[in-house]
Amino acid sequence: MKLIALNCNNCGAKLKVGESAKFVTCKHCETQLAIHHEEGSAFTELVEATKRVEERTEELAGQVEELAGQNERLLLQNELEDLDREWERERAKLMTRGSDGHLSVPTQRQALFLGFFSATLVVLMLFAAFNGTKLHDLFWLGAVAMLAIGLFRAHQVNERALVYRRALAAHEAARNSLIDELSALRERLQPKRKKKKVTT
Ligand SMILES: [Zn+2]
Repeated sequence: MKLIALNCNNCGAKLKVGESAKFVTCKHCETQLAIHHEEGSAFTELVEATKRVEERTEELAGQVEELAGQNERLLLQNELEDLDREWERERAKLMTRGSDGHLSVPTQRQALFLGFFSATLVVLMLFAAFNGTKLHDLFWLGAVAMLAIGLFRAHQVNERALVYRRALAAHEAARNSLIDELSALRERLQPKRKKKKVTT
């Protein structure tokens, strides 16, 4: 085996080691040394120092990863807040303003109520017609107008309720996917030692 000459990095003593050796213990000071081979030359380094550098590098890499994760989490949280604000604006537009100025969520129940009101009107009109009740033409005109308005409003409220429901579902889907992303990120940012125990 070819030998190469080295100096101990701790006490400076001359050492001879096999050319492929990776570690040596100095005969003078008994320090454990790591041998670094670099294009034709080689030098020694204290094993402890090598370990420290490796540990520090790993620690720094961990910190960088954590910072990147925190940054990503902040971005996602901002996105979530934007999404909620946007929904509040959209929601205000989709709500129905009552005669008292109060905003309410349009529901199909309201549409049903209007439809029921119109149906009652039709029943009353048919009842009057079959009984041959003498009623003023203006009454008929009024009843038909109310019926038309009732049906139109029922249709309108129903449409608004559908639009509202669809918008709400879309908002919730977008919100849930952001929350999923956030919790996946949180899991990834957990300390690494927690990952080890999940080996089945
Ligand atoms: Zn030495």
